[in-house]
Amino acid sequence: MTRAAIFLDRDGVINENRADYVKTWEECRFLPGIFEPLRRLAQSPFAIVITSNQSVINRGIVARSEVEEINRRMIEEIQANGGRIDAVFYCPHRPDENCDCRKPEPGLLLQAAECLNLDLRRSYLIGDAASDIKAAVAAGCYPILVLTGRGKKQLPLLQDEGYSGYHVASNLQEAVEWILARQGESQGRGIQMTRRNVGLILIIAGIVALLAAVTADLTGIGGQPGFGWKQMVGTSVGVIVAIIGGILCRS
Ligand SMILES: [Mg+2]
Repeated sequence: MTRAAIFLDRDGVINENRADYVKTWEECRFLPGIFEPLRRLAQSPFAIVITSNQSVINRGIVARSEVEEINRRMIEEIQANGGRIDAVFYCPHRPDENCDCRKPEPGLLLQAAECLNLDLRRSYLIGDAASDIKAAVAAGCYPILVLTGRGKKQLPLLQDEGYSGYHVASNLQEAVEWILARQGESQGRGIQMTRRNVGLILIIAGIVALLAAVTADLTGIGGQPGFGWKQMVGTSVGVIVAIIGGILCRS
């Protein structure tokens, strides 16, 4: 069965964005307050996947092994604080390489979906750049722009380009709260649907019982044919069941 995911951009969402790139673990600074939402996400059924553009690798600024070391230590620190990261997918290419995995292309998300059997339509991406929002739209998952990192400056770019259909949150905490509330609402709708369906079944069952009792050739009190006590019981049960069904449908 496929699983929904929360895709997290890394720089500007989890840790501070640096104009000169995060080149070492020492330069990696977690944004304030990120462990609480990561703990909440860890308790959700979502797969939690970091998707990050790391052109520093092919620009020759940082070795691939160093990027992987930063990611590994970041995951360790998140786990030590009660969080969970299930996988990291990163793109090492420069923009001029025109790969299909550097966001705004959807390649990283498609790779993750393939590897982890994810349902992109039920997944969310939280990012701080227009390229994150565009990648999410291209992959078919729900985009959320956070105003940390580059977010505040990127929002007007998206507005100028006429992008819509994404949610804006102040930070990771707000984004996670919004997602979990949205999930709760849709589960609530699911319960109401179930209750309504049970109600409809009870109405139909009640009517069937009523008709069966009225039309059945049952023997009444004293063994005489007619509308006897069995039919009284049958019709009463039918009416009561149908009324309960009606109440369930209306609630
Ligand atoms: Mg970013």
